[in-house]
Amino acid sequence: MERLIIIGSGPAGLTAAIYAARANLKPLVLAGGLYGGQLMLTTEVENYPGFPEGIMGPDLMMKFREQAERFGAQIENVDVTEVDFSKQPLVVRTADDEYRAKTVIVATGASARWLQIPGEEKLRGRGVSTCATCDGAFFRNKHIVVVGGGDSAMEEALFLTRFGHKVTVVHRRNHLRASKIMADRAHAHEKIDFIWDTVVDGVLGDTHMTGLRLRNIEDGSAFDFDADALFIAIGHDPNTSVFKGQLELDEAGYIVSPDGTMTNIEGVFVAGDVNDLRYKQAITAAGAGCKAAMDAERYLEALEFSMPEIIAS
Ligand code: NAP
Repeated sequence: MERLIIIGSGPAGLTAAIYAARANLKPLVLAGGLYGGQLMLTTEVENYPGFPEGIMGPDLMMKFREQAERFGAQIENVDVTEVDFSKQPLVVRTADDEYRAKTVIVATGASARWLQIPGEEKLRGRGVSTCATCDGAFFRNKHIVVVGGGDSAMEEALFLTRFGHKVTVVHRRNHLRASKIMADRAHAHEKIDFIWDTVVDGVLGDTHMTGLRLRNIEDGSAFDFDADALFIAIGHDPNTSVFKGQLELDEAGYIVSPDGTMTNIEGVFVAGDVNDLRYKQAITAAGAGCKAAMDAERYLEALEFSMPEIIAS
C-alpha cells in the first residue's frame, strides 16, 4: 500500500513529487513510458523563473526529476492503463502491476491535437508531425507549413526557420491568437510568411508529403499548395481517457476540480494541464503540483489521525 501515487511526470507531477518526498510521503511516481511531459518536446524555455538565460525543456525536466529523486521519490517509467477509484484503497493498474494507495495525484497533462484530415495519419512521420523539435531537422532547405495561430504555432514556425528555406503559417482566421512578443517575432522573420483565413483539408502524397489541399474559408476556394512538411500546432487535449467513468470530467475532457486540487473522489487530487484549459504553463502546472502535494499531505494526516489503524494497513 502506497501513501501517495502520482500519475504523470511533467512539471505538475514532478513538483508534487518534490513536495511529497520532502514531506516524507515516499511518493511513487508512475511517470509514463515517455517521462517529462510536453517540455520534453520543446526547445528553449524562456519564461521559467530562475533561468534568466533560458533552459532547454528536456534539461529542465531532468532537473525536476533529479530534485524529486534526491528526496526519495520513486519514479517508474510506466503507463497507467486502468484505475479503480470507486472505494479505498484507490487502485492504479499498469500493464504488469497493480498498485494500491490512500491518495493519488493525477497529473497526466495534455497531448497535441491532430487535424483529423485525409492523408494526415498515412503521412505521419513522412512529412506530417506535431513536434518541430523532434522532426524539424529532417526538412533542411525544404518548404515547411505550420498550421495554427497560437504561441505553439509561432514557436514551431520560428524554430523551423533553422531548417526550412521557407516557413508558411496557415491560420484559419486573419489574426493570431499568439502573445504579442511571439507574433511580432514571427511577423518580423524574413523566412516566415502567412496564409490567412485558410484551413488545411488534406495532406497530399503517397510515400511522403508533397503538398496540402487548402481552402480559403472567406470565399470557399480550394487549391493545392506545394510543401514538404506540415507541423500541426492547434492546441492540446487532456490525457484523461483512463479516468472516464472514474472522475468527473467536463465536456472537453478536463478533470473537474471546483475546489482547488480536489476531484469529486476523496483522496484523488489533480494538478497541471489535465485540468487547466486556461493557463497551460509549466510554471502554473508546477504551482498546482505543489498545491496538490500539500493537499494530499493534509488529507493523509487527517485520515491517519482519525483512523490510526490505517497507518498500519
Ligand atoms: P492555443 O493557444 O489554443 O492555440 C491554438 C491555435 O490553433 C489557435 O490559433 C486556433 O485557432 C488554432 N486551431 C485550433 N483548432 C484548429 C483546427 N482544427 N484547425 C485549424 N486551426 C485550429 O494553443 P497553443 O498555441 O498550443 O498554446 C496553448 C497555451 O500554451 C497558451 O496559453 C500559450 O500561451 C501557451 N504557450 C506558450 C508558449 C510560450 O510562451 N513560449 C509557447 C507555447 C504555448 P483560433 O485562433 O481561431 O482559435
